[in-house]
Amino acid sequence: MEIAAETVDTICAVSTPPGEGGISIIRISGPDSRTILEKIFRPKKKTTKLPGGTLRLGYIFDPGNGADIDEVLAVFMKAPGTYTREDVAEVHSHGGFAAQSSIIKAILSQGARLADPGEFTKRAFLNGRIDLVQAESVLDVIKSETDEELKYAVNYLKGRLSKKVNTFRDVLKNALAAFEASIDFPDEDIDIDFSGHLALLKKARKDIDDLVSSYYEGKGLKSGFEVLIAGRTNVGKSSILNALALKERAIVTDLPGTTRDLIEETLYIKGMKVHLIDSAGIRTPENIVEEEGVRRVKEKASEADLIVWVLDGSQPFSAEDQHVYDVISQYKSIVIINKSDLTRHIDLNILTSLKITSYIEMSAKTGLGLDEAKSLIFSNLLKAGRKNSLLITTIRHRDILKKVSHNIGTVINGLENDEYHAELLAFELHEALHHLGEITGETCSEDILNTIFSQFCIGK
Ligand code: GDP
Repeated sequence: MEIAAETVDTICAVSTPPGEGGISIIRISGPDSRTILEKIFRPKKKTTKLPGGTLRLGYIFDPGNGADIDEVLAVFMKAPGTYTREDVAEVHSHGGFAAQSSIIKAILSQGARLADPGEFTKRAFLNGRIDLVQAESVLDVIKSETDEELKYAVNYLKGRLSKKVNTFRDVLKNALAAFEASIDFPDEDIDIDFSGHLALLKKARKDIDDLVSSYYEGKGLKSGFEVLIAGRTNVGKSSILNALALKERAIVTDLPGTTRDLIEETLYIKGMKVHLIDSAGIRTPENIVEEEGVRRVKEKASEADLIVWVLDGSQPFSAEDQHVYDVISQYKSIVIINKSDLTRHIDLNILTSLKITSYIEMSAKTGLGLDEAKSLIFSNLLKAGRKNSLLITTIRHRDILKKVSHNIGTVINGLENDEYHAELLAFELHEALHHLGEITGETCSEDILNTIFSQFCIGK
């Protein structure tokens, strides 16, 4: 890697969020951490030296005039057993703007510089404590809003994806060694049997393709899935949205065609973020405003991760219902038959003739069947089998894995057709290994690193 693994200067930043708070943590990392802390910290109980790893009560003072700035707890932690693998000092001050900025000024006056965004984590990566996937997951952990999201981010932080990538790397390296042996000794009659490698390459490619396709769910976990509630007017779309969101947000009305715009509500279904979008009834537009509404519903239908098609169970299936079906049938959808508190007049055989097997009956009015509706939405968004395995949550990882899959595919084809140049296949394997290194950071350019770490805040 082109990047120098050694860092020589000492950096500092406030690591807690800006603004008022009970406490604020200021972090210092680098070779001068201890000296700097000793020059601005006066422990209440005098000791000759700050013991490593122990929080001490005392005062941070202005080294210029000796005046106390704030009463704090301070700790020094010796390298390499620290976040950055460098000497680290932390000052836990009171969480106020003046206290924070005066302490930072005192630290800077002793030769530290202000850290760049994500620089502590970048140093942890450059010093080999974590790889790039783990560094990226620090940001994911910080940004997690739901339990599901946090679970996957912590798995990454613990190195689950890195381990998987390393198993792919071992398969590729072993196959490469076999190719290179056949290239190095072309004239010698060593009959290298590639069948074992072929099987392992196929397995690796399948696992990689599974990871690539898991991005759809990974992305949804992070930014939320879009679920469009579609159906003709008055079937109860707004009421269902309200019942699911447990908030009276959409305006419910008896007049057909009044929910003309798209109304969105974000909710959590079993710890998963879902953006529920209520649509104008899809029906033949009667005026300009409705026409625009219908156009937007059609557009949303093509973008949504799932469509919940609502039918009114108390009414016979109508031409308007059929019209909605015609619009949404090409997309992934589930069916809710609403108003189950009223006498049923819909003929459920219509669903059979439309080849719809997955539906539930509910009542937005009484709440009956609401939990089943949530479960049906959940299971259609997140494949049940995937729940405890790995997911790709960043487009960077997905794009790299796609390239690796392509490289391995070429090698598999070559081996299967038995007409290949070992040099070419070795080249593909080298490429694939290079790409895998971009995931964990071994073969990553400074530019990519800067892009990744610039997404962090200062102090991380
Ligand atoms: P939308 O046009 O599809 O959004 O339908 P609304 O949510 O505005 O509901 C239309 C009418 O049906 C309103 O008068 C609701 O109170 C009523 N409604 C909605 N859901 C139910 C239900 O489950 N049972 C009954 N009895 N009425 C409902």
